[in-house]
Amino acid sequence: MTAPSGPTLVAGGAGFIGSHLCRALLEAGGQVVCLDNLQTARASNLLALERHAGFTFVHGDVTQPLPEAITARAPGFARIYNLACAASPDLYQADPEHTMLTNVVGTVQLLRLAEQTGARFLLTSTSEVYGEPEIHPQPEHYRGHVSCTGPRACYDEGKRAAETLAFDFARRGRADVRVARIFNTYGPQMRLDDGRVVSNLICQALSGEPLTIYGDGSQTRSFCYVADTVDGLIRLMECEGIDPQPVNIGNQQEITINELVEVLSSLGTAPLDIVHRPLPMDDPQRRRPDISRARAVLGWEPLTPLREGLAMTCEWFAGELRSNGLPVTTGARAAPGRRRVAAGGA
Ligand code: UDP
Repeated sequence: MTAPSGPTLVAGGAGFIGSHLCRALLEAGGQVVCLDNLQTARASNLLALERHAGFTFVHGDVTQPLPEAITARAPGFARIYNLACAASPDLYQADPEHTMLTNVVGTVQLLRLAEQTGARFLLTSTSEVYGEPEIHPQPEHYRGHVSCTGPRACYDEGKRAAETLAFDFARRGRADVRVARIFNTYGPQMRLDDGRVVSNLICQALSGEPLTIYGDGSQTRSFCYVADTVDGLIRLMECEGIDPQPVNIGNQQEITINELVEVLSSLGTAPLDIVHRPLPMDDPQRRRPDISRARAVLGWEPLTPLREGLAMTCEWFAGELRSNGLPVTTGARAAPGRRRVAAGGA
């Protein structure tokens, strides 16, 4: 990738995917301005980025008027990525009003900034716009099956509204817009308490705690390693002359949560105990991206096999737990098979 002519603004750049994106842009020689409210970010993500000379951090919340440190620099921005929003169901449901406003108010403010400055704009949307999908895999033309009243709606509908804003700006020629629909992404630099399935299961496995499976574990997801996701985002942003259409960014390998537990167990880090918890309301039963468009338009597809990505992620989490002074139980497999320790209302 050649670095764009001006700095890149990354809203949400201290978060999980955002910090990987900032690092990739900096390593390619870019100047990066990160705007983040540090709501769900890890402080150490930021510390690592601050070692790069081309990196500037601005503290601010996209639901509020943009800080002067951003508006004053705005004419120089060549690219604006919007990753500002909590993405873990536990975290985005903790303050649903803020989640909705982050997507709507935050996106419109950043789109207006792109309009004023001529910066190219990329919205990170989500597979959640498909809701509980009725077709598999999900292509971009599928309009989705989303509850507008349930506990996930603040995120799902917030992202749908953000897409609407982005495409209206594009249709009116107000901004050069890209929209990535990101499917479940995992990897190093997630929070220990993120609450999503990969980080939960890995932390539990490494700590010798029972693995929490919500429901009966037959629901599926398709997990994409973060480096692959970031590669897809940068390709989408830098692709010239692309139609303003959403593009799915995700891995096509669909597995059940029970199978995910099997893979983690086979890595030798998992304890043998499982505890079932109730399936959260509106939890989608199946999810798998159709990535034909990403392949055709971006020449992109994920390269990291799940087992390899999980092994790298486990290693990172083990280091993180140790550096937090927490015990790590590795290779804790006592006997073949697994014990079920509780039924917990699944
Ligand atoms: N899940 C689970 N155990 C956990 C956390 C999540 O079984 O400790 C399930 C959750 O119910 C969902 C899937 O794993 O079916 C993925 O959940 P996650 O929160 O990672 O992301 P989502 O795709 O639901 O946004």
